[in-house]
Amino acid sequence: MERTWSKSAPAADLLIKGGRVVDPDAGLDGVQDVLVTKGRVAELGSEIKAGKNTRVLDARGMLVLPGFVDLHVHLRTPGREDEEDVASGSRAAAAGGYVAIFAMANTDPVVDTAAVLKGLVASARAEAAIPVGFFAAVTRGLAGEQLTEMGELGAAGAVGFSDDGRPLATAALTRRALQYVKVSGRFVAVHAQDDSLFKGGQMHEGPVSARLGLSGIPSLCESLDVSRTLDIAEYEDAAVHFCHVSTAASLKAIERAKAAGIRVSAEVTPHHLALNDEAIAALDPNFKMNPPLRAESDRLALVAALKSGLLDCVATDHAPHAAEEKDVPFEEAPFGCIGLETAFSVLYGELVMSKALDLGSLVTRMSTAPARIAGIEAPSVRPGAVADLCIVDPEAKWTVSAHDMQSRSCNSPWLGHEMTARVKLTVAAGHVAWEHSA
Ligand SMILES: [Zn+2]
Ligand SMILES: [Zn+2]
Repeated sequence: MERTWSKSAPAADLLIKGGRVVDPDAGLDGVQDVLVTKGRVAELGSEIKAGKNTRVLDARGMLVLPGFVDLHVHLRTPGREDEEDVASGSRAAAAGGYVAIFAMANTDPVVDTAAVLKGLVASARAEAAIPVGFFAAVTRGLAGEQLTEMGELGAAGAVGFSDDGRPLATAALTRRALQYVKVSGRFVAVHAQDDSLFKGGQMHEGPVSARLGLSGIPSLCESLDVSRTLDIAEYEDAAVHFCHVSTAASLKAIERAKAAGIRVSAEVTPHHLALNDEAIAALDPNFKMNPPLRAESDRLALVAALKSGLLDCVATDHAPHAAEEKDVPFEEAPFGCIGLETAFSVLYGELVMSKALDLGSLVTRMSTAPARIAGIEAPSVRPGAVADLCIVDPEAKWTVSAHDMQSRSCNSPWLGHEMTARVKLTVAAGHVAWEHSA
C-alpha cells in the first residue's frame, strides 16, 4: 500500500567520495565512498571507481546520513496556497535533508473525504520534490463530533488519522477513534490539549507569563489529556501517537505507559528541544506556538527523553503563516512556526555540538524511528536500499534569512540566527531532490 507520492524524476548515478557515513541502524559510522546507481545504493567501500555516466561528489569532511522523515507538517493545501503548497513545502523539506513528510489534515476543506485526499495525492504526484503522504481527519470538519469514513480514507492512502490543531474533545470520541484505527492498521496522532485549561492562553503558564502579563497555558493542559488518552489506549489495547510533546509531566505519563506495555509513540519538535519560554520576552510572534515553549526544566526533560528513546522521534510541526498574519501584536498572532529547513541545523548545533545528544541518536530519531511509525521503509545507506540520503557539511556557517527560504512562508523563530551545519544535497526516492548552490 502506497503511503507517499512524488513527481517522477531521473534516477541518480552518484559517487559520493570520502564522507563520514553515519547510519546507526545499518551499523555504519566511518569514512566510506557511497556509490548510487540508478537510484539505489549499489556499493560502499574505499576507492570505488566511478563509471562514465556517474557524477562524482567530493564529500570529504561531510556527513552522509539516511534522509529524514517528518511525521508532522502543515502544507496549507487545499485552501491557503499563499502560505504553502505541496511543491513549496516539499522543496523546503528537501532543503532540510528530508526524504519523506506527512501533512496534517486541518486544511480548508479538511481532509475528511476520500475525494479531498485523492486530490492531494494527485498534487503530490505532479509537484512533490520528495515523497509526501497525508493524514486524514478523525472527525468530519475537525468538528469533534462524527467520525470520518476511516476505512475508505485508509484505502485511499491516509498514513494515519489526526485532528491536529484540535484535541479529541471527549473520552468517548477518543475511544471510538482508537477502536476504528485498530481495525484499519493505521494510527491516531493526538494533539493533546484540555480545552478548558487552554482557553485564551498565549504562552506557557509560569513566572515568565506572570512577568509579561500574558495569560498562561499550564503544563497540565497537555499532560491531563495525555494521561486520559493513554488510559483509553490501554483499555482498548490500541496504539496511539502523541504530537509535539512539550512537558515533563507528559513524559512521566508516557514513561509509565511504555513500562506497562501500552503501544505509544511520541514526537518532539526542534523548537521545544532548543528554546524555552524566556524566548517570549521580546514578544516576537514567531515564538508563539501551540503547545507553547515551556520552562527550561521541561526542555531539559525533553532532551533527556529524546536521548533515551522515550520520545521516539523529532517532528517539526512546520506551520507556515502569511507575513501579514504574524506581523501583528503577540496576543493577536496565530500559533505556529516553520521548521523544515532549520530542523537538523538547530538540533546539530544545540544538542550534538553541546554533547547533549550523540549524532547517531539524532539520526535515528529523525530518520529510522519516524519512518517505522509511518509504516514506510526506513531510509538507509546500506547497499541495496533505495537512495534516501542527505549530505551535510557539519562545519558550514549560515544565517537563517527569509530571503533564502524555500518555504512560501518565513515565520521562523531562527530568522537572523547563525547556524552551524548545512544540508548540501538530498537524494530522495533515488533522485537528487535538492542541491545547495553557493
Ligand atoms: Zn498540534
Ligand atoms: Zn501541527
